[in-house]
Amino acid sequence: MWVIDIRHLLNESGTRAAVPQLKKKVEKLREIIVFATSEQSDITYESNVRCNRRPGRKPCPGYLVIEMTGEDEIYWICPVCGDEGVLHGWEDLFWNVAKGNHEGELH
Ligand SMILES: [Zn+2]
Repeated sequence: MWVIDIRHLLNESGTRAAVPQLKKKVEKLREIIVFATSEQSDITYESNVRCNRRPGRKPCPGYLVIEMTGEDEIYWICPVCGDEGVLHGWEDLFWNVAKGNHEGELH
């Protein structure tokens, strides 16, 4: 189980990955945040976010189940490979669409 504070992966202004090696990971977490804070997550837990694990070096075909479990806590699990985690530190990020900002894009 991953426990991630996304602020630790970002640059000081919280707009992009702190280092290029983290870019893919941050992009995936951004998708998770956007889904969890969107109205879509009221309708379905199964998201459109693909699992990014590669069990046995093959891309996992699963789609993450994402649920907001607290004020500043998102839980995800992949129903196929079982990869799961908890994400903190996203509440003040501008990707948080619940705050009404849809401009957030990672460059
Ligand atoms: Zn998976």
